[in-house]
Amino acid sequence: MNARPIKVAIVGGGCASMTTAWELSKAEHAGKFDITIYQEGWRLGGKGASGRGANGRIEEHGLHIWLGFYDNSFRMMRACHAELEAKGMGDLYGDWRDAWTPKNDIALCSQSPEGGFTNWRAHLPPRPGLPGDPLDQDQGFSLAHYCASAFDLFRALILDTSVNGHGVATASESTGDPDQLARRLTSLVKLGAFATTAGLAQVLGLLASLSRSATPENADALFGGIERICSAMRQWLEDQWLADSENRYLWEIADLTLATIVGMTRHRVWFDPRGLDALEDYECREFLHMHGASLRSLQSPFIRGLYDLSMGYEDGDMTKPALSAGQGLRGTMRTFFSYRGAFMWKMRAGMGDVVFAPLYTAMKERGVKFEFFHRLTNMGLANSADHVDSLTFDVQAKVKRGRAYDPLVPVAGKPCWPSQPVWEQLVGARKMQQQDWNLESHWDRRRADTKTLAVGEDFDLVVLGVGIGAIPYVASEFVERDPRWKSMCDNVKTVASQAFQVWLDKDLPDLGWPGPAYITGAFAKPFDTWCDMAHVVPEEGWKTRPKTSVYFCAVLPDPPQPPADDDRDYPARRNAEVRINAEEFLQGPVREVWPGAYDDNGGFRWDILKADEENPASLKLKGRARFASQYWRANVNPSDRYVIHTPGSHRHRISPLDMTYDNLTICGDWTDSGFPSGCVEGAVMSGLLAAHALSGSPKLEDITAYDHP
Ligand SMILES: Cc1cc2nc3c(=O)[nH]c(=O)nc-3n(C[C@H](O)[C@H](O)[C@H](O)COP(=O)(O)OP(=O)(O)OC[C@H]3O[C@@H](n4cnc5c(N)ncnc54)[C@H](O)[C@@H]3O)c2cc1C
Repeated sequence: MNARPIKVAIVGGGCASMTTAWELSKAEHAGKFDITIYQEGWRLGGKGASGRGANGRIEEHGLHIWLGFYDNSFRMMRACHAELEAKGMGDLYGDWRDAWTPKNDIALCSQSPEGGFTNWRAHLPPRPGLPGDPLDQDQGFSLAHYCASAFDLFRALILDTSVNGHGVATASESTGDPDQLARRLTSLVKLGAFATTAGLAQVLGLLASLSRSATPENADALFGGIERICSAMRQWLEDQWLADSENRYLWEIADLTLATIVGMTRHRVWFDPRGLDALEDYECREFLHMHGASLRSLQSPFIRGLYDLSMGYEDGDMTKPALSAGQGLRGTMRTFFSYRGAFMWKMRAGMGDVVFAPLYTAMKERGVKFEFFHRLTNMGLANSADHVDSLTFDVQAKVKRGRAYDPLVPVAGKPCWPSQPVWEQLVGARKMQQQDWNLESHWDRRRADTKTLAVGEDFDLVVLGVGIGAIPYVASEFVERDPRWKSMCDNVKTVASQAFQVWLDKDLPDLGWPGPAYITGAFAKPFDTWCDMAHVVPEEGWKTRPKTSVYFCAVLPDPPQPPADDDRDYPARRNAEVRINAEEFLQGPVREVWPGAYDDNGGFRWDILKADEENPASLKLKGRARFASQYWRANVNPSDRYVIHTPGSHRHRISPLDMTYDNLTICGDWTDSGFPSGCVEGAVMSGLLAAHALSGSPKLEDITAYDHP
């Protein structure tokens, strides 16, 4: 007997829900699931969406970088590229290694007391393997691994900075019976060996080895003397490095790492079944300070960079930094100690082109259906309160002759998402364009029709993958009737963000900022994070190419009063604000890093901005008005707001594995995913969990670092 396939309605086409669709549509399920993805507007990608605008240029929601520990994300994308290649579409999408470029260069900026900025630039060493490769036994995601890596790092720094060649034994302590190592460590600690540089290097070697084999049984030997060792280490560092401005940054990193180790030891995190979640209620800076980090390190660019990159500012207010210690430390340790291949990976083109176009194409080939222009307005909770009984949508636009919408357009021979709908395909397009319909705005409710799907007929299972900011609007019955959903919406916070991109007729070294294309953090407010993206320019459709393109990104403070739901102009007003912020930023702090972009009177040389070649009026723009030809945006839609991780919020997250409702699972970077963070990897892990909840696959042990402490 052939049972009919199970109809799965997936709402939202961001990283998380695309992952769920990818898993459920795999051949191993043999067509068991009949999947439809419902997506508002004309493109997939959500917070990671990008589009192509004039001159085929890439227009992003904001700067997106993949980190070298995004194992689950890379595994999916590697499989996707391999599948497309096997189906003869390799020419369109290429090998995954063409789609991502390894990057190991970071820069952090620090405002010096004399005014101006000093910059710390580093090249992180490439590591063996590639993200998404099978993992070995050690997994690289355990606390023991992080701790051992930290001790290894210190030991290397000690030997490298001042000791090597001065008679210190450099023998590694990497092998040996843990009990024997523990006994040696105990005796060295008793003898106060760490009081000398040579002894300290030896002690650190032992600590690294022991950390790798730490068990509750030998924990006392390992951690008993750790505070004394850390304070000796701090003393050593102060003597060697603090007075030396060259090494000041190293001292700050070391000071913060020591505070982390001491804090984790004092809180007995190493063998706590909750792992780093045990530190969830602490604010990250406060936690580090409590355990010995100096005020100076807490104001260092590393800490500011951590908060900037995780947009950890409540209400987008820079005076309200908020990041839980548990997730802050987990994210930092994974970033620095679990990467493979490169520390970071930059996408060759827009995230839409590199991630969502191949996923869309491969899944369409597999038979997954896509309903664009479908905005969920209500997920109906049955009277029995145990399942979803209906899904109601605004159909924002209809496709001519009842056809399926074909969303991709070619740019430089590659299928890409446009920054506007492909209007020719839509019924009533002229009217919509004349009236300026914004099909991605929460505040623009204009529509062509409505549609209600019923359980048992149109769908059996639901995957809700919208951003958490949209949940109160699309699942109000759940929020009103289920206290857990209410507390999740109240406590898992989000912030609006702002981004702008400029295309320049000069490259950055010409302007005074050295290569190689650093990602720069902890820079001046409001655009603290920026990156030279010269490598994407050849993918754009310019007749005469600009020399580079630079992306800036940051939080955007909320207004004192939230906008009314019918305030259709709200996104345009916020966009106008971002434009002013961007122009002032170019006239102001950017001079610290691109001195060559200013004329003799100190004014920004607006003429280095590459105008829109397709628009003669743009070519005539002079002075500050020329900025009109660049790209900027305010990400203020509820679903587009960036998810932050404030202290104490983790317990309010609901897991995709939660079985409260018979036919519903959730996914998104706002869920309890094993890596509860506003990032691609957290979203992908959540999508994998949602697929597991519905199908039992993938196995939980196959989700990298899901059960990591
Ligand atoms: C400016 C910015 C920069 C970032 N930089 C990075 C970075 O460098 N690295 C990194 O790893 N992460 C970064 N992130 C975070 C990353 O983009 C997100 O964590 C990730 O994309 C979230 O995916 P998601 O599937 O959980 O949610 P989303 O991407 O929000 O997906 C939700 C989907 O639901 C759709 N939707 C919403 N409401 C409805 C509705 N009513 N009906 C139908 N569909 C609906 C949306 O259109 C979207 O497709 C950044 C985020 C922002 C905002």
